[in-house]
Amino acid sequence: MVTRLAFAVEEAAFAALSVVGQPSMAAGPVEPFSGGIPLAVIASALALVALVSVGGVVVARRDARDASRLARQRGRAMNELLRTVRMAESIAELGVWQYDPTTGEQQWSDGMRRLFGIEHDDEFVAGDAETLLYANDIDLIAHVTRQASERSPFTLRYDIHGYDGVPRSISVQACNLFGQAGKVVRIIAVVRDVTDQISRERALEDSRQAAELEAHAARELAETDPLTGLANRRRVMKELDRLIIDARDLGRPLVLVVFDIDRFKIVNDTHGHLEGDRMLQSVARIAVDHTRQGDMIGRVGGEEFVWIIPEVNQLLAEQMAERLRQAIAQGSAIGAVPNVTISVGLAQLRKADTSLTLFSRADNARYDAKEGGRNLVKLAA
Ligand code: GH3
Ligand code: MG
Ligand code: MG
Repeated sequence: MVTRLAFAVEEAAFAALSVVGQPSMAAGPVEPFSGGIPLAVIASALALVALVSVGGVVVARRDARDASRLARQRGRAMNELLRTVRMAESIAELGVWQYDPTTGEQQWSDGMRRLFGIEHDDEFVAGDAETLLYANDIDLIAHVTRQASERSPFTLRYDIHGYDGVPRSISVQACNLFGQAGKVVRIIAVVRDVTDQISRERALEDSRQAAELEAHAARELAETDPLTGLANRRRVMKELDRLIIDARDLGRPLVLVVFDIDRFKIVNDTHGHLEGDRMLQSVARIAVDHTRQGDMIGRVGGEEFVWIIPEVNQLLAEQMAERLRQAIAQGSAIGAVPNVTISVGLAQLRKADTSLTLFSRADNARYDAKEGGRNLVKLAA
C-alpha cells in the first residue's frame, strides 16, 4: 500500500508539474501577425503581447519551481515514510499481504517474501506468489474470500515450508476494506511469524496432556487392586454411586451382587498364602468372564467381591449370579479353581437406596447364603 501511495503521490506531483508547466509552453514562440493592420499598431501590439508573455512566463516558471519543490519535498517525506515502514516491518518481522478481489492481483511486501524465505535481493517475478502459496498448499485467496462479509479483522494460521527450507508457522491477520457498494474492494493482511509462539503452545499442550495421562495413570493405579487388577473398593463405590444416579435418571433397574470365597482361611492354611493369592486371581478371572459390557466388578475386601449389573432385573441377575457360582464351584472352563465355592448375596436397587444401603442389603443376603450352608445365591429381603 505504501508503495502504491508513493507512486500515487509521484504521479500527482508530475500531473501538477505539467499543469503549471502549460502556460510557459503556451507562452512560447508567438507567430507574427500579417494583413492590412498598420505596422505601428502591430509593433505596439507585439510589444504588449511580448510584455504580457514575458510576465506570464516569469509567473508560470515560479509556480512550476514551487510546485516541483513541493513535489520533491513530499516525495522525500514519502520515501522517508516508506523506508520507516520497511524498517519497522523488518524489525517486527512482519509481512504485508494485499489482495484486490476485482483484479485478482496480490501484492507481497518484502517482509511477506522474507517470511516465505525469499531474500530482499532475490528475484520475485509475477506468478511467484501463487507458486509459493500453491507449494505450501495454502489457498489463501479462497480462505479470505470466504470471510468476505467479515467487518472486523480475522486471523488465519498456516504451517509453511519456506523457499529457504525453514518450516514456519504464520498468522495472517486480515481485514476487509469495503467499497461504497458494500463490496470488498481490498483485503489487507499483516502476516507474522508465530513459529515460536506455536511451538511454545504445542509444548505446553503436550506437557498438559502428559500430566493428564500421568494423573490418569496414577488415579487408575490408586483405584486398582494390584493382585487381581480389578477395581478396588474406592473405585467400585464411586462407580456404584454414578450407576445408581444413571439408573434413577433413566428409570432403569440395577442389581448389586456381593460374593466371597467360602472358608478361604482353610485354603490359605492348607495350601499356603501364595496359593491363596493365585486362587483369588483365578476367581477374579472367572468373575470377569461372566460380566457383560457396562457391568463392573471389583475386589472390596480380602476375599470379597462385588459385581454391579445395570439394566437388568432381579430375576435375570439371579440367573447370572447362579451361573457364576456354578462356574467357580466346578473349577470353571480354565480349571483353575479346584474345591472352591462362593456365597452370593444379591439386591435390586430400590427408590430410597443409597450405595451404602444397597450394599448392606446385598451383604446381608450373602450372610444368609453363608447361614444357608454356603455355595448359594440369596436374594435380599
Ligand atoms: P467364610 O466362609 O465364613 O467366608 O470363611 P472365610 O475363612 O473365608 O472367612 P474369613 O473372612 O474369616 O477369612 C478370610 C480370609 O481371607 C482371611 C485371610 O487370611 C484371607 N485373606 C484375605 N486377604 C487375602 C489375600 O490377599 N491373600 C490371601 N492369600 N489370603 C487373604
Ligand atoms: Mg470368606
Ligand atoms: Mg470374609
